[in-house]
Amino acid sequence: MEMRGGPDRGAPTGSEVRRAREPIASPHAGLLREAIRLAVVNVTEGLGGPFGAVVARDGVVVASGANAVTRTNDPTAHAEVVAIRSACAALGTFQLAGCVVYASCEPCPMCMGALYWARPDALYFAASPADAAAAGFDDAFIWHEFALPEAARSLPIVQLRLDDAHAPFEAWQASTTRIAY
Ligand SMILES: [Zn+2]
Repeated sequence: MEMRGGPDRGAPTGSEVRRAREPIASPHAGLLREAIRLAVVNVTEGLGGPFGAVVARDGVVVASGANAVTRTNDPTAHAEVVAIRSACAALGTFQLAGCVVYASCEPCPMCMGALYWARPDALYFAASPADAAAAGFDDAFIWHEFALPEAARSLPIVQLRLDDAHAPFEAWQASTTRIAY
C-alpha cells in the first residue's frame, strides 16, 4: 500500500491530488459527524482518546467505536479497530465489503492496515494528522519508521531463517478446510 500519510507531507503527491474533497452537503457528512460526536463524548466521559469511528452500510450505522486504549489496556483499541471488530461481529463476517468507514481523524498506520484487511468500500475522515499532532497525537513517527529500511528503525526487527519457517504455509496449502481471506 502506498504510504501517503508519510512524513513528507509538504509537497502534494499524486495521491494527495486524488484525495476526495467531499462537499459539506455530502450524504456522508452526517455519518462522519457521528464519528466526531463519539470522539468528543469519549473525551468528556473520560473513556479515552479523542477518536471515534462509524461503520455504515447503505447509509445505516452497523457499528461504531471510540478509542479505548487506556481504559482497556489495549494499545490496539483505536476507534477504527474497535468499530471494525464490532461491525464484523454484528454482520457475522470477517470483511466489510459493502460498508463505508467514517473516522473522526485520518487513521494511523495500524488502523489504515486494518482497513485494508477489512476491505470496506471506502473511508471518509474529518480531521487531519496535523490536527491530531496539535493535540499531542503524532502518527508521523510510525509512518516515517515504515519508510525506513528495517535496520534503520527504532524497533529491533530480526528475521531468523529457521528450517521450519515455511511449515505454516505448507499446512495452509495442504488444508482442505482453509477459508481464504
Ligand atoms: Zn489507529
